[in-house]
Amino acid sequence: MAYSYDPQNIFAKILRGEIPNNTVLETEHSLAFRDIAPQAPEHVLVIPKGAYVCYDQFAIEATDAEIIDYTRAIGEVCKMLGVQPGEGGNGYRLLSNAGEDAIQEVPHLHVHIVAGHNLGRMLQKAG
Ligand code: 5GP
Repeated sequence: MAYSYDPQNIFAKILRGEIPNNTVLETEHSLAFRDIAPQAPEHVLVIPKGAYVCYDQFAIEATDAEIIDYTRAIGEVCKMLGVQPGEGGNGYRLLSNAGEDAIQEVPHLHVHIVAGHNLGRMLQKAG
């Protein structure tokens, strides 16, 4: 079943400038902005400008230019935040929720970059 993109999702509205955001980085194909409800001292969302619902769709359907731009944008944000372990930073976590089991709230692909304190174990035990 193909993905169906909802152009009224909140990140589509941010991309159209209908809702303000705290931009960290904008590139030709990507936008990074601060999460409205941060779950760590640093919490940035990176989204492609294209209409992709989640990561697997993007990885398979996006153009090479979009994928390169998006991947580089994620790296650039880590650099801007000063969290790269190889550069003396304390590290970070990348997370991308997709679909029901991952409790994806916004149906436009986004990678969370969270950092700034010890992030604990990767997953909670299923409750
Ligand atoms: P998900 O659960 O889909 O992986 O994450 C969605 C994220 O989007 C949440 O962390 C939530 O705080 C964030 N978010 C929802 N609405 C807005 C908004 O209007 N602006 C910003 N900057 N973040 C939002």
